[in-house]
Amino acid sequence: MSDLEKYVEVALLLPISQTFIYSVPDHWREIAYPGRRVLVPLGKRSVTGYIIKFPSTLPKEIEIFPLRRVFEDDTAISENLLHFILWTAHYYFQPIGEVIKCALPPGMHPRVKESYCLSTKGREALEDASVPEAEKKILSSLLEKRPGLKVKKSDRKILQKMLAHGWIEKKEPFLEQRVKEKKVAFLRCLAKPENIRLTPRQAEALKFIATAGEVALPDFRAKYPHSSFLIKKFKEHNLIEIYFQETFRQISWGEDLAWPMPTSIRLTSAQEKALAEIWPALASKKFRPFLLHGVTGSGKTEVYLRAIAETIAQGRSALLLVPEISLTSQVMAYFKDRCPYSLAILHSGLTPGERFDEWRRIKRGMAKLVIGARSAIFAPLDNLGLIIVDEEHDSSYKQEEKVLYHARDLALVRGKMENAVVVLGSATPSLESYYNVLQKKFSYLSLPERIDARPLPEIQIVDIRQDKNKEQRKSIISSTLAENLQQTIMRKEQALLFLNRRGFATFALCPDCGYSFKCPNCSVSLIYHLSEKSFRCHYCDYSLVAPSSCPRCSSPRLLLLGTGTQRLEEEIKKEFPSALVGRLDRDTAGRQKSSQIMNQVRRGEINLLVGTQMITKGHDLPKVTLVGVLAADLSLNVPDFRASERTFQLLTQVAGRAGRGDLPGKVIIQTYNPDHYSLAFAQNHDFIGFYKQEISFRKEMGYPPFKRLIHLRWEGNSLEKVQKFAQNLHTLIIAVRKVNPKYAEQIEVLGPAPAPLSYLRGKHRYHILLKGQNWSRLHNFCQEVLEQREKIAIPGVRLIVDVDPINML
Ligand code: ADP
Ligand code: ZN
Ligand code: ZN
Repeated sequence: MSDLEKYVEVALLLPISQTFIYSVPDHWREIAYPGRRVLVPLGKRSVTGYIIKFPSTLPKEIEIFPLRRVFEDDTAISENLLHFILWTAHYYFQPIGEVIKCALPPGMHPRVKESYCLSTKGREALEDASVPEAEKKILSSLLEKRPGLKVKKSDRKILQKMLAHGWIEKKEPFLEQRVKEKKVAFLRCLAKPENIRLTPRQAEALKFIATAGEVALPDFRAKYPHSSFLIKKFKEHNLIEIYFQETFRQISWGEDLAWPMPTSIRLTSAQEKALAEIWPALASKKFRPFLLHGVTGSGKTEVYLRAIAETIAQGRSALLLVPEISLTSQVMAYFKDRCPYSLAILHSGLTPGERFDEWRRIKRGMAKLVIGARSAIFAPLDNLGLIIVDEEHDSSYKQEEKVLYHARDLALVRGKMENAVVVLGSATPSLESYYNVLQKKFSYLSLPERIDARPLPEIQIVDIRQDKNKEQRKSIISSTLAENLQQTIMRKEQALLFLNRRGFATFALCPDCGYSFKCPNCSVSLIYHLSEKSFRCHYCDYSLVAPSSCPRCSSPRLLLLGTGTQRLEEEIKKEFPSALVGRLDRDTAGRQKSSQIMNQVRRGEINLLVGTQMITKGHDLPKVTLVGVLAADLSLNVPDFRASERTFQLLTQVAGRAGRGDLPGKVIIQTYNPDHYSLAFAQNHDFIGFYKQEISFRKEMGYPPFKRLIHLRWEGNSLEKVQKFAQNLHTLIIAVRKVNPKYAEQIEVLGPAPAPLSYLRGKHRYHILLKGQNWSRLHNFCQEVLEQREKIAIPGVRLIVDVDPINML
């Protein structure tokens, strides 16, 4: 064994980019290898981390401490997954420990608790009258030997003092996990009831246990009321034993996923053609990326299902990513009856206990298919053969908080590492993905028609400026949309109304003095919510009970302008009293509620559904024949180079919800910009046309996929400090750029400037955009800048690095 194997490099589960080297005590040499969880000293504390590798060199003139503990349990990360995590951390400039945390269920994040015990001296102190009460209280609680003494911050000093006195001693710190394994008690018979008198009921209950072999206590309880008496009796006579077994929590869906799913399906020729390409790729067991471009309702899910079945038949596992939690249940329903293999779910809508258990089932190889949202890209699957990203264009694959990464892009990386096939599916592929097809990086699969040759819906664009309703009734619903809604209701069909703004009124204004309600923490208007009669900020959740008069001039006449989903719902209810109206947005949809609301639509308990973004994605609702888009301009007016693309995608997707059953669908788009090309191409279902126009704009402006971007944003409470950091960072960037002539030639630096949302959640925000054509050069450049970030750091200013940014607001 080389000398270096006595040491390991550890990433701590903390938001710091530095890693540390520790020595391995001899008795742990066998088990201390990369991927294992460890407990290490850091200053005076103990913290958890993961071994990431054996170091190639050792730091000089620094004392190296030994590991405190190595864990040999479920918490370990496989070599493959660790490799993927390290790649992710490097590529996105994120701390390794933070990426590891993304890969673990949240309940597994441990807390390190210091523990102490009482010394003989301490026992004496307890008896000593001169010792103050506060000390005694802690000492006596230690006497009870409660592990993990909880010490309030204010008591820390006392603790230090008592340590110094030698009253208490530090013991090994221990880890407390937030979620634990669930154990269930089981009953099993030990002996026949010879010479023991049992009542008929007792005899029957005992026989029940004996016949079953073993019975879970909750089941026994359900069958036999007053079971504790029975059990006591059996135990007394040694007739049964009680033992505990680990069980996995059942995921509760709140309600049944019962809606009819096709049981036997004959593939369409387009589906067959697509699969005919995927199958050999799977057989080759090599990395192959595909773009599956299928119009809405073309049967992409069926292709996924068959490809997954094939993968699992080969003895490998599969991962299916979906953009929206409520879609997991739809996909589950589709798969449930037709998958003979076990599947697991991973997303933030599960309880911590459920996530913990699903994760461990996956890790133990008990689940062959994982369906999940973006963080499932880190699922601990072994032997991965296929990764599918459904609705690959969706921006929810980009995680914007804590650790910034893009799960769609990572799917390709992981697929490559695992020699897996990767299928990106969408009706509206991202420009980047379609560009990759044209560059021959992805193979192209197409489902150009809807199932059963159902027509794509007819799309009508309504110019709101010309609408007579606007003048007469001041309604956001145009007369064209109103007429169509009326007909839909009369025909007993269903409609979706899409408005990408929740709340009631989006703006409150005093007509007398011009006062408007703004969030004190953010540079945005507060939004009026009718149900709570409050003004709320959609960024920081600040809320204010709505005053009845203007805070500035006391005028009682406050105007509520603009419309959100709440007001739309009210309006619809008023105008169409016979309709069953429902609403789906972040205010109405809790964890599982979004799929409940969607189920209500499926069962016909809702026939007019009002909603935000959440209703546009992937849902298969056969009875929806009308879709109304209330304000197409909302997404067009966002100051972002992807605004047109996003609008095209949104309109195509929401339109795609119409006419998926036997009845043809119709779509009405209301707008102030009827001539915008995004709308025109969406109206004609012309993705290629849109692509050609948009890609030329990207080329001209030097945006992705032609140039790559890294977005640096920093924020802080003090504007002065944030501005000072802007200067520092800019100076540093310019200095690094000068060092290398290639940088000076090729890296563009835009900014620093205040971010479009210049004040958010109480923080001032500035940004710089780095642009470059050559990716590795841009990445190296950024790396060199970041390596020197300590030099320019200002306390209270936080820098956020966003590689391949999606949201630059
Ligand atoms: P997409 O995801 O492409 O929008 P879905 O996968 O939701 O479309 O499929 C739309 C509908 O067509 C679903 O109800 C599905 O069960 C059905 N379907 C898919 N393939 C077939 C087929 N080959 N024959 C008949 N129905 C199909
Ligand atoms: Zn006023
Ligand atoms: Zn706010």
